[in-house]
Amino acid sequence: MKTVYSPLHAGHAGTMELMSGAIVPGFEKPSRAEIIKARVESEKLGPILAPEVHDLAAAKRIHKADYIDFLPTIYPEWEALGRSGSAIPYTWPTRGLRGDVVPGTIDAKLGYYSFDAGAPFVKGTWEAIKSSYDVALTGAKLVRNGEPAFALCRPPGHHAGAGFMGGYCYINNAAVAAQWLLDQGAKRVSILDVDYHHGNGTQEIFYSRADVQVLNLHGDPMVEYPYFLGHADERGEGAGEGFNINYPLPFGTTWEAWNAALDDACAKLAAYGPDVVVVSLGVDTFEKDPISQFKLKSSDYPRIGARIARLNLPTLFVMEGGYAVEEIGVNAVGVLTGFEGR
Ligand SMILES: [Zn+2]
Repeated sequence: MKTVYSPLHAGHAGTMELMSGAIVPGFEKPSRAEIIKARVESEKLGPILAPEVHDLAAAKRIHKADYIDFLPTIYPEWEALGRSGSAIPYTWPTRGLRGDVVPGTIDAKLGYYSFDAGAPFVKGTWEAIKSSYDVALTGAKLVRNGEPAFALCRPPGHHAGAGFMGGYCYINNAAVAAQWLLDQGAKRVSILDVDYHHGNGTQEIFYSRADVQVLNLHGDPMVEYPYFLGHADERGEGAGEGFNINYPLPFGTTWEAWNAALDDACAKLAAYGPDVVVVSLGVDTFEKDPISQFKLKSSDYPRIGARIARLNLPTLFVMEGGYAVEEIGVNAVGVLTGFEGR
């Protein structure tokens, strides 16, 4: 399997985040992608390709144009005020406030275009976002041309909605890839999100559509981030009714229960009959993940890949989360080698 990777992700570095009352170094850090890349090499998964550079038209097919246009302006505007460090919002237009007026200052715009403080900007963040987007689209092109591919995206994307960032995510790479595949002629695409966290952005983007089926296995939002989406009764709306399928699972979920949910998801996916599967590949379901509460073991990840392979469909893997940095390469690449039947 070919991997698509860009070194430009590394400019998104040195971020900070708020956790349990303390400012801590960001868990979503460059070593994640580097360790996965090293594992791709040591496991001889296949060639590692540089992404083709794209304009932003494919991003604007699923994201709001003003949101995409805002992203490259953030850090220049931040620096023009004499600031450094991480550009992070601190005010949001929540219930009772106006969400229909785009404000005029950078602090307010950051809040307007986000749902939390978890998507910090540093000097190299935009170039990393853009490279991650290019990686996803280049992977999608490989799949369209008839081979499975691994888009080693960083930063991840599945928390980013049509008009907002959050949860380490800015452009929704999996959603961009799915839409691009539709635009290239696919009639139906399924997005199978196996990251520990609910892919709220992906759900929001496709919630009223029948041409993209979205299946999500994740920590129960009653107790787990992103908290405000991901319940089992969210099944899509309008034409999309029935095409959004959530599997919220309790803290402590081990392979047996997780795999039962995966098996059910794969059955529903097969029944939908997509032309392509996009897998939002997070490995923060791992038992040693520092911010997650499931209990999958490294030996479980190849079994995930093997189950997805049995769908016998063109498949694009798009990297999402996973924060147990030492094991992230073993687990992520384990899914891919399992997919290949090794
Ligand atoms: Zn996650």
